[in-house]
Amino acid sequence: MTDLTPSDAEGERVPAMLSGAAVSPGSGMGKAWLVVDLLKAGTRGRRITQHEIAAERTRIETAFGEARCELKDAAVRVEEQFDAALAGIFHAHTMMLDRILSSGELERELDSLVDAEEAVRNVFRGWYEKFLSLKGPAFRQRADDVADLGRRVIRRLQGRDDGAIFAHVPPGRVLVLEHLLPSDVVALSRRGIAAVVVEALAPGSHAALLAREKRIPVVAGPPGVVRRLRTGDELLVDGHRGTVVVSPDAEARLAFRARLETYERAVVRCRGDCHKPALTLDGEHVSVEANLGALDDVALAIDNGADGIGLFRIEQLYLARTIPPTEEELLEELRTVTAPLRGAPVTIRLLDIGGDKPVPFLPLPTETNPSLGRRGVRLLLEYPQLARTQLSALLRLSAEQDVRILVPMITLEEDICAIRALFDSTLGALAIEQRPLFGAMIETPAAALGVATIARHVDFLSVGTNDLTQYTLAAGRDDPAVSQYYVDTHASVLRLLAITITEADGMPITVCGELAGREELIPELLRLGVRSLSMAPELIPAAKEVIRGVRLRGESIGGGARA
Ligand code: PEP
Ligand code: MG
Repeated sequence: MTDLTPSDAEGERVPAMLSGAAVSPGSGMGKAWLVVDLLKAGTRGRRITQHEIAAERTRIETAFGEARCELKDAAVRVEEQFDAALAGIFHAHTMMLDRILSSGELERELDSLVDAEEAVRNVFRGWYEKFLSLKGPAFRQRADDVADLGRRVIRRLQGRDDGAIFAHVPPGRVLVLEHLLPSDVVALSRRGIAAVVVEALAPGSHAALLAREKRIPVVAGPPGVVRRLRTGDELLVDGHRGTVVVSPDAEARLAFRARLETYERAVVRCRGDCHKPALTLDGEHVSVEANLGALDDVALAIDNGADGIGLFRIEQLYLARTIPPTEEELLEELRTVTAPLRGAPVTIRLLDIGGDKPVPFLPLPTETNPSLGRRGVRLLLEYPQLARTQLSALLRLSAEQDVRILVPMITLEEDICAIRALFDSTLGALAIEQRPLFGAMIETPAAALGVATIARHVDFLSVGTNDLTQYTLAAGRDDPAVSQYYVDTHASVLRLLAITITEADGMPITVCGELAGREELIPELLRLGVRSLSMAPELIPAAKEVIRGVRLRGESIGGGARA
């Protein structure tokens, strides 16, 4: 995890152009704001005097005490919804904190007249490096744990809680950082930042996808970009071309502004008919719905003419917290978020964590290959109480509005049977009159090829082409090194989609991966038989325009999917 510390902005700059990868379109200009890891932080602590030592020691003790309380709260919630063994990890972390506090090392640091922040940073960094030097995955994990604890204590010393990592970024800045997590994107979008420049980020990662949904321009790389930029540098970030201009001259600024205006005008022109239904030239209706990952994007979906929410990713309700939400908290939040939709259908997906979406409060053991490990439904079945909490909240919400429930990362028929049994038993316990529709995501080749066995247990299907692409082309969606293999328009993905549609035998199917919003592919998806697409809200107006130009009758239609 990274955290904010503005670095030194002094020194002359000459105009320069850096070329990286275009991750999220749009353009932004503003002053750079560097994010550096608190533990590695470049800023020097304050020198203190001899008689300040006692006060700094008290500050440290208070920060440790607050960090202990956070860990205790997290342990309680995790034990309620997961299990005691996982909660035990927080107890181990508390013991680690106590051990460091009583080691005498912090006092030695203070005696050398550095302030509390620097003392804590030096001591935790020492422990981190010690663990790192002992080779092996268990020590690597201990090193990461100790680093996280150090950051937790430093944030407390600085008077910030864990949820407020980006609270100090002034609006209009270009954020420059090494890693971007999905939870960071949501926090950033609320800060009104102009753009992001990140050291490395794959376009298929959830952080990238959320940035596109939130319309935050993002450029990844080039390598070493974070070291080359300084807080205060003037930057022009072009998320279409993947370029960053440092210290632009007047001419570069002018050209950039003109491009920005052209882009904004094109977006506005497209909005025109977005609230009307999308009918092909021969009158076939195609439902165009919105994918939502960030809770405050419901308004954006409505604004862009969404016919409903085709994929509501609820991960943010979990990722933005330091402890998991209760059933009541979930229900309340979902109720508030979906209220503006006024009865339009909402497909809410059960929690899909793991892979590139680590959860701060869930210290799962590190996996060698997280994308092929415990993700989505696999984790829900491992911790059934976690699934029950969500199912209860969603079922209760379904009594008030048109909610559909979707299960992520189905691979086997056994997966869908087991989660269906949990759904049925939760429903039975709640005495809800009308059962909501229950669906499965098809996002592994095994699920696509075995769709007939999965379809027996559900009311609808939703094809997640992002994961389907990573598993079909054997290219991690969050690994920029293999981006050239991560091609969601590849014939193999389209072939699996065609098989899914044919073998699902008329069951309603939505396509909800990024592929659904690719204008050039929409006619082909319609010809395959897709009649329901779900995409980032901003893409809806253009997608509707494309659909209105397609003629299907008289052409061979590959399947019968209707949603
Ligand atoms: C997908 O995999 O295509 C999908 C829609 O789910 P997510 O991107 O959240 O994994
Ligand atoms: Mg997926």
